[in-house]
Amino acid sequence: MPKHVVVLGSGVIGLTSALVLSQRGYDVTIVARDHVTDLDSQGFASPWAGANWHSFWDNPRTNGWETVTYRKLKSLIPTGMVMQLPSKRYYLYDAAEEIDKCWYKDLVDDFKPIPKSELPDGIASGVSMTILSLAPPLYLPYLQNLLLNSKAPHGKVTFVRQKVESLEQAAGLATGGVQVECVVNATGLGAKSLGGCMDELVEPIRGQVCLVRAPHVRTDMGVGGYTDGSCYIIPRPDGNCVLGGCQEVGSWDLSVHPDRTEKILKRAYKICPELSHGQGWEKIPVLKHNVGLRPSRKGGPRLERQGDFQIEGGKRSISVVHAYGIGPAGYQSSYGMAENVANLVDEHFGEKGRGSKL
Ligand SMILES: Cc1cc2nc3c(=O)[nH]c(=O)nc-3n(C[C@H](O)[C@H](O)[C@H](O)COP(=O)(O)OP(=O)(O)OC[C@H]3O[C@@H](n4cnc5c(N)ncnc54)[C@H](O)[C@@H]3O)c2cc1C
Repeated sequence: MPKHVVVLGSGVIGLTSALVLSQRGYDVTIVARDHVTDLDSQGFASPWAGANWHSFWDNPRTNGWETVTYRKLKSLIPTGMVMQLPSKRYYLYDAAEEIDKCWYKDLVDDFKPIPKSELPDGIASGVSMTILSLAPPLYLPYLQNLLLNSKAPHGKVTFVRQKVESLEQAAGLATGGVQVECVVNATGLGAKSLGGCMDELVEPIRGQVCLVRAPHVRTDMGVGGYTDGSCYIIPRPDGNCVLGGCQEVGSWDLSVHPDRTEKILKRAYKICPELSHGQGWEKIPVLKHNVGLRPSRKGGPRLERQGDFQIEGGKRSISVVHAYGIGPAGYQSSYGMAENVANLVDEHFGEKGRGSKL
């Protein structure tokens, strides 16, 4: 009998986890309220990301996920879904020590400090490297297509649209009425109110960005050191650029703030006048103003297996693999987290003495 897993959540973490599970031979039912067909929904974070691979934190767990993901995304460049591009990180202060400690300097290509003579006005230090970017409106459907076309020896993948109240309810939604032993909880911010989880540490980090048309801008840029919001330019493979931004911890506000828009455009123009061919920040061709809530968690993301999750009034216990709370780094961590999820699902079936099908 093929082993069957319910993945709850169809953001980048749920989809990538489902992909790796299917590649390991598991049949997967993906249950979610918001799906790839809902790219305008602010009910989930994944459509609203930049999205680039650019590490900004440093701990062994997330570094591991980001390393795996960097290598995997790099291998996807020939598909056209991922683009490799030069990146310049500027700082309003002397960041020499910070730059020295960048854990990923040997992972990415071309990492080097920018000579002072090449820094824009008002910038105190900087570093350049080659990084990766992708466009979620193209990449999420690409993941979904891989899943829908999954064929033996890979497991079969089906999608169910449903908002669920609890993990127990999710366990009962496998296609074909299969009784599952394992549920992956990739609900992002949903983990805060989901029955059986109710994680009070989960919190949003509000982000506001401008999507602009600028196929001639092919350098990723960012400025660190503003106290009231970040400044970044992420060129995407589709010729658009995302200009950001802000990280408002605890804010559930989904509306666009015009004062923030002005700040974003002015700051981006300052380091990259090419955005409007030098015609001023007001002339940057804005396509859309977007707001998304990054699914964060105080103390860091939760990725662990709860092996004794009781359902049916205690008559049966299943494993729940929690995979949520990655905040601002879901794309750049996605494959590493998904491998970790799949290892924990394997561990569950290994404990049951059945091992992986493949
Ligand atoms: C402005 C902005 C810029 C960003 N830039 C980057 C970047 O450059 N690089 C990067 O790596 N990351 C970036 N991110 C972060 C990235 O978008 C997130 O980390 C990632 O999308 C999180 O994915 P997820 O699958 O965990 O959650 P989500 O995408 O939020 O998905 C959650 C899923 O769970 C479902 N769900 C929740 N509750 C329930 C329920 N009760 N019943 C059924 N379904 C439920 C939802 O419908 C959805 O399908 C950015 C985010 C924003 C907002």
